[in-house]
Amino acid sequence: MDIWDKKKRSEVMSKIRSKNTKPEMTLRKALFARGFRFRVNDKRFPGKPDIVLPKYKTVIFVHGCFWHRHEDCQYAYIPKTNTDFWVDKINSNVERDKKNAEKLSVLGWNVLTVWECDIRHTYKNDISPLIDSIVNKILENHSRET
Ligand SMILES: [Zn+2]
Repeated sequence: MDIWDKKKRSEVMSKIRSKNTKPEMTLRKALFARGFRFRVNDKRFPGKPDIVLPKYKTVIFVHGCFWHRHEDCQYAYIPKTNTDFWVDKINSNVERDKKNAEKLSVLGWNVLTVWECDIRHTYKNDISPLIDSIVNKILENHSRET
């Protein structure tokens, strides 16, 4: 059984969904501290990527594990109430993510996906190994281009 009733559930979900969630902010701050400059939630790009690095032709999506179904992740559960609704909703999110990523790569952009749980889990201890690997991917893409 769902631990919350319908009203509480939608309240919780709307919070999960809100803009400028902490993991996003954490990643932005860390990249900024490493000297990266970027645009945020740029509407001109398919899927409004959370971070756009024009210099590196790279976009980063910070995906919530629940909303974007992080495979094999404990946060990617399906609520026990309104199950059909959530399955449909999340399926269409995943489908849209896929299409957006395809469009972006056709336009010549490298698409990185960072999962919220990865940021959350490293956050309290040390986020730098995660940032290192993201930075490596950004630079890797860049050197391949030039
Ligand atoms: Zn996850």
